[in-house]
Amino acid sequence: MGDTNHFTIGQLSDELYVIQEDISYVHPIYTNDPLNLYLLLGDHSALLIDTGCGLAPLKPIVDELIEGRKLFVINSHAHWDHILGNEEFEEVYIHENEVEIVSYPYNLAYHKDIFGKRYGNRNLVIPPCKDIKPIKDGDIFDLGGKKIEVIHAPGHSPGSICLLSSKNELFTGDVAYYGDQFLPSREFIPRILKTLLKLKSLCRKKKNNTLYPSHQQTPCGITLLKELYDGVYNIDNLWHTKKFHSYFYSWIINDPNNERFRYLIPRL
Ligand SMILES: [Zn+2]
Repeated sequence: MGDTNHFTIGQLSDELYVIQEDISYVHPIYTNDPLNLYLLLGDHSALLIDTGCGLAPLKPIVDELIEGRKLFVINSHAHWDHILGNEEFEEVYIHENEVEIVSYPYNLAYHKDIFGKRYGNRNLVIPPCKDIKPIKDGDIFDLGGKKIEVIHAPGHSPGSICLLSSKNELFTGDVAYYGDQFLPSREFIPRILKTLLKLKSLCRKKKNNTLYPSHQQTPCGITLLKELYDGVYNIDNLWHTKKFHSYFYSWIINDPNNERFRYLIPRL
């Protein structure tokens, strides 16, 4: 198997693995903020959600776990920590809004001081996957005995998706997790709220929904969606408490009602 010092593999059920990547290796600010990659197994096919930071080979680990099944690879969205392992795979699916970003080499030079130490030997430029395929809301992946539906969930980014399995597991990407929330700008708050409402009503319709976020605690109950909705809804009321976060060069707002969230919003 590949580098299991870099990745920690957990088995959540017969058909589901979480492969955690410790991204504090990139920068200590990400200590206690593990990235969760998921591998779902069906009868004849498997699905990998996200490819991580690209700092250690992921494919050998995945190949061993899928035992000859056909592999689909999906990016939950195009942020660096979810896509930089793409070049290891033959084809990668991503929402049509973010196809372009992942089709070109990813240049980390704009944050040389952060990424330089770890990616310097690759000149801070990470090649893309050669075959990027667009997906959209409602698309279905059939793994054999288990189907996965694409749910467009814009807000965190324009092409963010969640993935809903026919066993009512909801993989939320960076749309919902406990931890620091990186929000694109204040004017996108209504869109984020709309997406969280859409997910809440989706979960209400299904029974036994369990959430599998891309960061930190996993699995989570659906109360996460309500807690996050309430927190984001309240940002306007907390706006006067914002402070400057020099590492991310953004505003940061603590949530006095819920210690599990802080909100980071670019300083425009
Ligand atoms: Zn992320």
